[in-house]
Parts: sequence; structure tokens; C-alpha cells
Amino acid sequence: MKRIAVIGGGIMGRGIAYSAAVAGFKVHLQDLFPEAIDIAKSSIQKEMKKSADRGFLNPGEDEASFNRITFTTSLEEAAAETDLVIEAVLEKMEIKVDVFQKLDKICPYHTVLATNTSTMSPTEIGAQTGRPEKCIAMHFFNPVHKMKLVEIVRGLDTSDETYAIAKRAAEKMKKEVVEVNEFPGFVTSRMNCLIGNEAMNMLMEGVASAEDIDKAMKLGLNHPMGPLELADLVGLDTRLRNMEYLYETLGEKYRPCPLLIKYVKAGRLGRKSGAGFYKYD
Ligand code: NAD
Repeated sequence: MKRIAVIGGGIMGRGIAYSAAVAGFKVHLQDLFPEAIDIAKSSIQKEMKKSADRGFLNPGEDEASFNRITFTTSLEEAAAETDLVIEAVLEKMEIKVDVFQKLDKICPYHTVLATNTSTMSPTEIGAQTGRPEKCIAMHFFNPVHKMKLVEIVRGLDTSDETYAIAKRAAEKMKKEVVEVNEFPGFVTSRMNCLIGNEAMNMLMEGVASAEDIDKAMKLGLNHPMGPLELADLVGLDTRLRNMEYLYETLGEKYRPCPLLIKYVKAGRLGRKSGAGFYKYD
């Protein structure tokens, strides 16, 4: 396994491309939009340089890794000759299924198709391709180059070989793997979305300020980040889609907080838009 295609050049796609390139894979990063590609290119280059300056990458490793990534808006170009595809497009079932069906036509049969969904069913995505045995979920975490975990979730028909390929790729990227049986939200999003939503409800009810809710969780419960600053990092639009899916599949306790809905309607999407529960420069 030498070549990886990453589909979607947003927060997660960029991070997965970074980690795959540093691990020595040849990477094709694809996004529909040239502007997204431009942002991905400069952000990966900047992050790699920062890592080299801080000694996390050896001298020259940043440039060599960056040169292993090809950027494109063409799905055909990205996926025609690849061993593993990791999809990181928007958290919407119909968009993921559309991408998987296209990939199924473009990719050689040996290619494994993985989704980086935070919540959704790899069985449902894989079943709409001609190769459900080659489909799987690989759930990375943000920021990918710093976070150690990948949750791997098999669909109903995922083969042992596909699981082994996904695990090997994650481990080559120096990640720890947990295997999770398929339930909405896996382990992490199921837990984290609930905590985040409760923090938003508490903010809306006036229990405490955003700063104090986050401070209480960090200093009182030893969370490395507060739930509101974490939601801002994830992106409030992405978090709302996660909540909507979990509400649909797991029920009432995942009803999205009205404040989250209001912020997304206002375009306050967290760090990526400059404001969410906090303001960013
Ligand atoms: P994002 O909004 O930052 O990026 C999504 C990118 O996908 C955009 O650049 C968009 O142009 C592109 N895109 C949309 N449709 C496309 C298509 N058909 N083909 C190619 N590119 C397309 O989103 P993100 O935060 O990177 O999330 C991506 C996926 O990763 C989602 O499924 C999300 O749930 C999951 N995820 C997100 C986080 C997080 O912290 N943000 C963590 C783990 C998993």
C-alpha cells in the first residue's frame, strides 16, 4: 500500500493528507472547489513548516512530505490509481453516497474506500456501492497530525482484509486504533456531542458564561479542552449535522441545542469563520 487519495480538502481532509504524506504515502488531495484546494495547500505547507521549526519533523522532512502531495479538483485524477481512499467531505449521507458511487466506478477493484464520518453508518454508505466488502469507516480526530486516535468501524459486509488494510494505514500514520461496532456516533462522537450539547444548553439557560463552563470542565474534570471551545474547533455546522444525525438515529437526548442552530444560521461556524462561542482573529 503506497498511494492514498483524500477526498475533501477541509479541516479533516487537510489533516489526513498531512499525516499520510509524513508517513511516506503518495497522496492525492481532491476537493470540488479550487479555493478549497488553495487553502488546503497553503495550510498544509504552513503546518509542516511549523512542525519542522518546532522539531517535530526532521530538517527537510516538511518539504519532502509536502512534495508527496498532489492537489487536484478532479476525482478521476485523485482516485484512478490508488490503494486506499479516505473520504472527508461534508457530513451528509447523500453527498457521501454520491462520492462513494463515483469512486466505485473510478477505482481499481483492490482499492479500499474509507469514510471519515463522525457519526454515520459505513454499512449504509458501502451498500450503495458494488464493493461493500471494501468499504469501512476510519474516524480521525482534529487536528489530525496531533491526535493519536482512529476509530475503525466495519460495515456489515466489510471483509477482514479491508479492516487489516485500514488498520495498517492508520498505524503507519502513527495512530492508535480502536475497533468499534457500528452504532451511530461510534464511541467518541456519541459521548462528545452529548457533552457539547449540554454545555450549549447550559450557556443558553444562563448557568454560566462560555469561559466559565469551559474552565469548569478543564480544571474540575480534567478535560484538555472545554466543550464549547472544542465545538468551535470542530466547526459548528459540522457539529450541527452530527447532532441532527444522532437525534434522528438515537432520539430525544440528542436534540440539537437551539443556540447551536441559531449560530449556524447566523454564519457563526466557530474558528473557521472567525466566530462561534468565542471570537478568533
Ligand atoms: P469541512 O467543511 O472543513 O470540509 C469539507 C470539504 O469537503 C470542503 O472543503 C468542501 O468543499 C468539500 N466537499 C464537499 N463536497 C465535496 C465533494 N462532493 N467532493 C469533494 N469535496 C467536497 O468539513 P470537515 O470538518 O473537514 O469534515 C469532513 C468530514 O470529517 C465530515 O464527515 C465530518 O463529520 C468528519 N469529521 C470532522 C471532524 C472535525 O473536527 N471537524 C472530526 C472528525 C471527523
